[in-house]
Amino acid sequence: MRSATEPQRLPVSPTAAGTATTRKVRPMAIPLPPIDTGPDSRPHVVILGGGFGGINAARQLGNAPVRVTLIDKRNFHLFQPLLYQVATASLAPSDIAYPIRAILKDYQNITVLLDEVTAIDPELQHITLAHGELAWDYLIVAAGSQGTWFGHDEWEPHAPGLKTMEEALDVRQRVLGAFERAEREADPDRRTALLTFVVVGGGPTGVELAGALAEISHQTLRQNFRNIDPADARIVLVEGGEVVLRGYPDRLSKAARRSLEALVLRSAPMRGSRRSPANRSRSARSALPPPPCFGAPGSRARPSEPASACRWWRATGCR
Ligand SMILES: Cc1cc2nc3c(=O)[nH]c(=O)nc-3n(C[C@H](O)[C@H](O)[C@H](O)COP(=O)(O)OP(=O)(O)OC[C@H]3O[C@@H](n4cnc5c(N)ncnc54)[C@H](O)[C@@H]3O)c2cc1C
Repeated sequence: MRSATEPQRLPVSPTAAGTATTRKVRPMAIPLPPIDTGPDSRPHVVILGGGFGGINAARQLGNAPVRVTLIDKRNFHLFQPLLYQVATASLAPSDIAYPIRAILKDYQNITVLLDEVTAIDPELQHITLAHGELAWDYLIVAAGSQGTWFGHDEWEPHAPGLKTMEEALDVRQRVLGAFERAEREADPDRRTALLTFVVVGGGPTGVELAGALAEISHQTLRQNFRNIDPADARIVLVEGGEVVLRGYPDRLSKAARRSLEALVLRSAPMRGSRRSPANRSRSARSALPPPPCFGAPGSRARPSEPASACRWWRATGCR
């Protein structure tokens, strides 16, 4: 193990690109030049992730006698709590995304890198990036979480989650697209199907998303169409447990349910179903288009699968 005061610079690996564990987001279409953080004898702290965790860690270390490199595969910090507002077109993407460089620009000891971490080697104390490698003396992993589809990962293509900007924009496109298609649909049954929105998961994200869908259909879009009344939209919140907002005080959980029902929201049990909500709808009404369906999944640490975790942490004994 190297001394903490003698950081080792590792060569850039030309084969590192393309070994990403997360393939959904490719940060740059063109290859980035090799990383050169310059000669510096201060301990090198690498922070993985520019979310709340990573940004706060960086701020704490700003102006401390260390050099800090914060790496994120996106160049913006995302305010996740308002993702559902972007998903329902109440806010613009730029309202909840802010450049990481701008947030940290006043800290001269902090360098921000746009790249994707694909492997972490705790023995050699270096990380592999999509476009290079980097040595660290101290490593802070704040890579956030990813959605878990209640043991049904096959649901994901039918019901996008709501943890990233890409997912929020996907939901937004599906929601607005459903209203547009319904406006041009002559068949009343098909119109009803298009205007039936299914949200899977009655946790905070599902409750927020269902409520926001009800608001835009019953209020925001009310006057905007000629052939449909957006208020005819049906929003179905599918929750497998007995209550929404499980884990919250009973009083709040009941109040949330009452508020949702007041917004003309249907709730449906999910237990026992092995089919995706979209498939279930299709089998029942095969001639009709599947309803727009959205997932409000739970969270699991990133990376979650043992194989990719081992790729990240090439620790002795990791199987
Ligand atoms: C819809 C929604 C609503 C929420 N509402 C609330 C709320 O009301 N109140 C509340 O307290 N919390 C809320 N949360 C939870 C809160 O947003 C999260 O707990 C918080 O964002 C987690 O911060 P983090 O830094 O751990 O991870 P994140 O904010 O997810 O940041 C992780 C960062 O790591 C980067 N990253 C990941 N993998 C890599 C990689 N391999 N290479 C490079 N970069 C990588 C990502 O790009 C990301 O920028 C909500 C979450 C969601 C999704």
